[in-house]
Amino acid sequence: MIVVETIKSLKQELEKYNSKNVGFVPTMGALHDGHISLVKRSVEENDVTVVSVFVNPTQFNDKADLERYPRTEEADKKLLEAAGCDIVFMPQVEEMYPEEDTRVFNFGSIETVMEGKYRPGHFNGVAQIVSKLFYAVEPTRSYFGEKDFQQVAIIRDMVKQLNIPVEIIACPIIREESGLARSSRNELLSAEERKKAALISQVLSKSVNFAKDMSVEEVKNWVNDQFKSDDTFKMDYYDIVDGNSLQSVSSWDESDYIVGCIAIYCGKIRLIDNIHY
Ligand code: AMP
Repeated sequence: MIVVETIKSLKQELEKYNSKNVGFVPTMGALHDGHISLVKRSVEENDVTVVSVFVNPTQFNDKADLERYPRTEEADKKLLEAAGCDIVFMPQVEEMYPEEDTRVFNFGSIETVMEGKYRPGHFNGVAQIVSKLFYAVEPTRSYFGEKDFQQVAIIRDMVKQLNIPVEIIACPIIREESGLARSSRNELLSAEERKKAALISQVLSKSVNFAKDMSVEEVKNWVNDQFKSDDTFKMDYYDIVDGNSLQSVSSWDESDYIVGCIAIYCGKIRLIDNIHY
């Protein structure tokens, strides 16, 4: 496995694999089993796998969140090597942003809901960095986790808008034993918060059973109610949406692809998860 820090050296390495299939997994590091599942899938399906580790400042709308974001570069390299990654791209901020990126994307209605609504500018930053990374890596396929459900829709739309010839592959959510969706931010939870955070996925899976007998509105209210008795939790949103348009549905028969998406604070840490109905 080779570690490179510049786009020039990345391109030089990739030339050695000339015209082979390139799989690419963009990450912000502090790697866990969720990331590694994407890397393994890429290794299986491509001749060469590139993983980027870059904490992208332009997608953080909260400075404190950027500052406390966990960074574990040495451990990341070991995990990537074990997973069969070929090239790790670990650029500095100046390499990716030699000057300010002033591009403003417009993703229309898929961006003005949920994460886009609660984290203004977030997806613009995601599109800035992922497009730059796609230009650098020129991957055949790129792998994203369904944990960031809305992000996958944004990336699919972005590659269409920019005519980037890459296949976007969405991979299932990997969970801790408790059911909590794996996230680099879980490391920032106290032991007690981490235990409590298991409630998030428990509530979501229970809500799927209730969906048979309850309206969409009732299920939303029930999910919200489950977190009210504990001050540790503060709900940003729980929305039940069409999985393609990401717009709220008001009845179960409005779509045959319905997903519930949650964003909730556990202490100071904001967690997201989702479930298919
Ligand atoms: P991040 O480092 O948080 O930007 O995540 C990098 C990629 O890993 C994104 O495509 C995420 O959706 C994906 N990912 C993060 N957590 C998980 C998880 N628990 N299961 C599957 N994929 C994940």
